[in-house]
Amino acid sequence: MEDTIFGKITRGEIPTDFLYEDDLCVVIKDIYPQAPTHVLIIPRKPIPMLNMASEEDQSLLGHLLVVAGKVADQLGVADAFRLVINNGAGGGQTVFHLHLHILAGRDMKEVELASGLA
Ligand code: 5GP
Repeated sequence: MEDTIFGKITRGEIPTDFLYEDDLCVVIKDIYPQAPTHVLIIPRKPIPMLNMASEEDQSLLGHLLVVAGKVADQLGVADAFRLVINNGAGGGQTVFHLHLHILAGRDMKEVELASGLA
C-alpha cells in the first residue's frame, strides 16, 4: 500500500503535536478543523480503509473507540461529540490511512449527516 501523510506523522517523520499517544495510536488536531474541537485518532498500523480491516484488527479498533472516549473527556467535550469514520473517496475519505474524527463544540444536531463532516 502507498504511504500517506498520516504514516509519516505516526512514525514521527513530520513533527506534530500529539494530544495523546500510546503504542497503538496517536491523536492530533485536524489541520482544517470543521468544528471548534476537531481531532483525529490515527492507528500506527496503516490500514487504508475501515472495510480493509480484518479480524486481527478487532482489538485495535476497539482500542481506538476507548481512546476516543478518553480523549473527548480530556478535551472537555465528553458530553457532546460526534465520532466519524469516512470510508472511501465517495464516503468523503481523503487520506487513505484509517482514522477517526472527533468533532465537538457546535450543535451537532444541526449538522446534516448527508453533508459529511461539514
Ligand atoms: P478524511 O477526509 O480522510 O476523513 O480526513 C482527513 C482529514 O485529515 C481532513 O479532515 C484533513 O483536514 C486532515 N488532514 C490532512 N492532512 C493533514 C495534515 O497534514 N495534518 C493534520 N493535522 N491534518 C491533516
